[in-house]
Amino acid sequence: MTENPSLFENVNRQVEKAADLMGLDPEVRQILSWPTNEVVVHFPVKIANGRVEMFTGYRIQHNSVLGPYKGGLRFHPSVNRDEVRALAAWMTWKTAIVDIPYGGAKGGIQFDPKMYSTEDLERITRRFTYALGSNIGPEYDIPAPDVNTNAQIMAWILDTYLSMQPQQNRQDNYHVVTGKPIASGGSAGREKATGQGVVYLIERWAKDNDFDLSKATYFVQGFGNVGSWSAKLMKEHGSILVAVEDATGAIRNPDGIDPDKLAAYLEEKGTLKGYPNAQRVDHVSFLRTEADIFIPAALESQITANNAGDLNVQLIAEGANGPTTPGGDAILFDRGIQLLPDVLCNAGGVVVSYFEWLQNKRREYWDLEKVDGRLHKILMAAYGRVKDSATEYETDWRTAAYIVALKRLEITYRERGIFP
Ligand code: NAD
Repeated sequence: MTENPSLFENVNRQVEKAADLMGLDPEVRQILSWPTNEVVVHFPVKIANGRVEMFTGYRIQHNSVLGPYKGGLRFHPSVNRDEVRALAAWMTWKTAIVDIPYGGAKGGIQFDPKMYSTEDLERITRRFTYALGSNIGPEYDIPAPDVNTNAQIMAWILDTYLSMQPQQNRQDNYHVVTGKPIASGGSAGREKATGQGVVYLIERWAKDNDFDLSKATYFVQGFGNVGSWSAKLMKEHGSILVAVEDATGAIRNPDGIDPDKLAAYLEEKGTLKGYPNAQRVDHVSFLRTEADIFIPAALESQITANNAGDLNVQLIAEGANGPTTPGGDAILFDRGIQLLPDVLCNAGGVVVSYFEWLQNKRREYWDLEKVDGRLHKILMAAYGRVKDSATEYETDWRTAAYIVALKRLEITYRERGIFP
């Protein structure tokens, strides 16, 4: 079956289903079906060998009615306007579901960072920040890490942005970006936050379903920030990681793969190839792995109408944004596979980004206990809202989550009205 290749249209289809069910105000529906601003920058960078290369970068700001635009930056060859629009919209829904005062945005540069040296990456990042100029800002639009970007990249963005400000304003602008290294104004717990959130929500699902995590098996697609932290934290429950796939291939061992040892191996070798005590498998048999839980934590559109029938799990906990297409969703629902949808399941990252932003504004440092405690409280409240919405509207959890977000946004539009 062929599905719509436009990610943004897929998001809008998901939202329309929720909007129909709850009877969303048609004017609010129209407003939310488009991003507010789309910034595209083409910028030259002098690469280490003296060559000048042109790059294309995006920052798409979907909605800011609930607060400043917020969302990650991705460095990947597949970054394009359609993908960034979809990712920006997901941020609007996510921040509304967890009820933090942000809107939604996303950005990125279309290139393969693995082909460039660290020095080149720094130049590309700094030149992109310069090209974006005042399209980002600490009270306006606040980027964070996403695929192939990390705390180091955020530190370069911070430094470049601050260098562009008048000297007397620099100390007041550290919250222009989150996911920074701790010494540069980052927060305790931010690096693991998305994986931590995934695992808090799996714990809650297990409690609700009388499911024993200490005997659970699970597999993970993507072993970067989100995938590796989810796996390391699942290990603390005694759950067994039975298969992993990343951009370099897939491995499986029904007796268990140690997440910490695998992370150390990947850090050293940069590839899953040659990892001892595991069998290499192809993509199709990876997806067919028999386990209790699947955590997709790589890219979008991985679970589709063509392969959703192959999955042998009870729960899918979406660490990635948009890993399931509408066609895939329908099959999972028919098969009774439960789902913690991305807009809830991976919201831990933006919640701790919000904590980092607050700490920078207040010049405070919170300890890990405080960060984790507040994260847990916010995610459990959001889980409760989505669960209640699923019961009230007798619908799947993704649609229920969108209804929570749409109601929050609809109230605000109703109160504020449309100018002029
Ligand atoms: P990352 O760059 O740290 O890791 C990405 C992982 O995906 C890597 O292991 C990579 O090898 C793997 N991958 C790439 N292409 C693949 C393919 N074709 N098949 C299998 N694996 C592949 O990125 P991340 O920050 O962990 O983000 C992963 C997902 O989580 C993305 O969808 C991102 O939008 C989402 N997310 C990230 C955060 C965050 O805080 N970093 C927050 C919310 C959601």
